[in-house]
Amino acid sequence: MAQKKTYYTNHPILRNLGVIAIILLTPPSAILFWYTSQNLDGSFLELFRFLGERGIFSGIYEIWAPVFWGSATAWKIIVIFAAAQILFMKVLPGKKVHGPTTPNGFTPEYKQNGFLSFLASLFLFWLLGFQIEVFRPAMIYDHFGEILGALNVFSWFFCIILYFKGIYTPSTPDSGSSGNPLFDYYWGTDLYPHIFTINVKQFTNSRFGMMSWPLLLLAFADKQYELYGAVSDSMIVSVVLQLIYVGIFFYYESGYFKTMDIQEDRAGYYIVWGVMVWVPAVYTLTAHYLVQHPNQLGFGFSAVLVVVALLSFWSKTNMNRQRINVREHDGDYNIWGHKARIIRAKYTDNKGKERESILLVDGWWGVTRHFHYVGEILGALCWSLPALFDNFMPYFYVVYLTILLFHRAKRDDVKCRLKYGKYWDEYCQKVPYKVIPGIY
Ligand code: NDP
Repeated sequence: MAQKKTYYTNHPILRNLGVIAIILLTPPSAILFWYTSQNLDGSFLELFRFLGERGIFSGIYEIWAPVFWGSATAWKIIVIFAAAQILFMKVLPGKKVHGPTTPNGFTPEYKQNGFLSFLASLFLFWLLGFQIEVFRPAMIYDHFGEILGALNVFSWFFCIILYFKGIYTPSTPDSGSSGNPLFDYYWGTDLYPHIFTINVKQFTNSRFGMMSWPLLLLAFADKQYELYGAVSDSMIVSVVLQLIYVGIFFYYESGYFKTMDIQEDRAGYYIVWGVMVWVPAVYTLTAHYLVQHPNQLGFGFSAVLVVVALLSFWSKTNMNRQRINVREHDGDYNIWGHKARIIRAKYTDNKGKERESILLVDGWWGVTRHFHYVGEILGALCWSLPALFDNFMPYFYVVYLTILLFHRAKRDDVKCRLKYGKYWDEYCQKVPYKVIPGIY
């Protein structure tokens, strides 16, 4: 079945150039971030000086070659972590939940045990790393470059397997080639691939990518302790806020299965490489940087950061829940003290069948069409600010996130206009701004 991807440019040359640029630039970027944070005091200026002296290609080669294939230790860490996550996915209890039915009529099913897996992962890490001391958590920091090298190579090959699997043995009807192998590798050929009964995207996005994040934070905090004999309040504030953020993610993991990452993005390089390499490398960057920069914030500043971050987390989570709840109650749902105002929007699925969905015009969804992105960005800013202002590096994630989410707001608008037509226009008339009221 031909792939319908109208919110990306359809110009063949531009599309291919964009894809090539992303595939070529992202892996060295992830490695350079790690190297700069660990070996160049987190200074991009130092990195540019280094690359200027050595030459860009030989400089990158000098940094990347020693970790390119990973190391025995790195592969061991990855295999043990992945095996534990698959085990948790399979054996921990959880009720069956469903994702939204796709335009081709497939309804994905999940076991809702994300939060239990999160707690089990933290507990096991604490038990084996800090109590029984089977391994030294700080050694993950020492081997982090090799881990990223190994993850990168693994993801490249895994995406090739997924590419062929989606073409020759797709798991669901929402699969197929666009006719452009490069774009198919990048975008994926299957929306909901399963391998040996494992839901690939639940594993890669949630249980691997998102679960690696809190464990890496703990390892980095342990490294700071090893270096300085104490963990600074800047590290504590940053790590605790991120642990809360990831904990909320897993508490509402079933909500994640209703987002664009899962509903729209096929299992290709864009999402699979992104969650398996970019998330561990970039989402953890502030804590990685803090290892060698143990600032003291004091109680006042720490408290402000915690309060603002918690409010941000609450607002964005509450906005996500409003959308899910109003749909689960078929519109019969109270928001902010009154019955929610909604639009019953009709659309036609890929089989030509008319369907109906609910667009909320109330609560946060009446403020702007993506107000939750403001909470997302503010929360990330709060866990970056403990790094203070010596370097730009610890703010890279929040800047990247801002660009990603503003682009995503645009992309989602195009998707919804294509899906809902005049109903979307009606919503946009009532809620004219995408992200920030009165501005954008
Ligand atoms: P959203 O939660 O914004 O959902 C978008 C979808 O919601 C639309 O495609 C549409 O889907 C539906 N929708 C749109 N308008 C309405 C409305 N008025 N009422 C009801 N439903 C509507 O998706 P995201 O995936 O962008 O975000 C999910 C969460 O993940 C957010 O909290 C975001 O901040 C976070 N996020 C975090 C990222 C990170 O890297 N840290 C990256 C991206 C997101 P439908 O087809 O079902 O109508």
